Amino acid sequence: MNIILLGAPGAGKGTQATRIEENYNLKHISTGDIFRHHMRQQTEVGMLARSYIKKGQLVPDEVTLRIVEIALKDAGMKDFMLDGFPRNINQAEALDKIVGIDKVIDISVDFDVLTERICGRRNCLECGYTTHVSQLKGGVCPKCGGEMQQRMDDKEETVKSRLTVYSEQTAPLIEYYKSQGKLFTVDGMGTPDEVFGEVRKVLG
Ligand code: ADP
Ligand code: ZN
Repeated sequence: MNIILLGAPGAGKGTQATRIEENYNLKHISTGDIFRHHMRQQTEVGMLARSYIKKGQLVPDEVTLRIVEIALKDAGMKDFMLDGFPRNINQAEALDKIVGIDKVIDISVDFDVLTERICGRRNCLECGYTTHVSQLKGGVCPKCGGEMQQRMDDKEETVKSRLTVYSEQTAPLIEYYKSQGKLFTVDGMGTPDEVFGEVRKVLG
């Protein structure tokens, strides 16, 4: 089974992806994680990606498609979960040419809670655990004790443009996959466990 996780920034794709990976045998491919890896390693792709990511814009399709093709090949072209890709119609059409998709799960969250969720998000530098700042005691990771940090693109100025990009370029994918009969919408307003309960109903 090949699936796509859709949803606005802050909808909880990453949180659900972790649970799906643990409970189903699907390889997690997150374009955001791949770009962050490149940025840490200061590769050419990383340097280029940083200039777009810090402004809240999409990395050009040509570059994004290249890293996705590599990740798909590494995954053996099957049993994968795409998180953060596709993000516009051009990417979706390119994907349709290289591999078949079975289900698309759209995690739906009220627009007005997204900014609060994203700006409050903190990530562990050691293990990658992500949570909301309100859940932290003493600013350290509850899983491993590592230092928690805010992503550079989770600052309010950048979040505004990410949400605009989502509305203009990514939201049209809902119709795109609905017309292919692959779309499943999940209510993303509950707790992570509640949302995962809905995801299970879709994945079986
Ligand atoms: P979120 O879903 O919370 O916005 P991601 O980690 O998926 O966060 O993405 C972070 C940034 O990486 C995006 O704002 C964008 O700049 C870049 N990016 C990720 N995926 C793509 C993609 N498919 N196409 C273009 N840019 C992307
Ligand atoms: Zn940690």
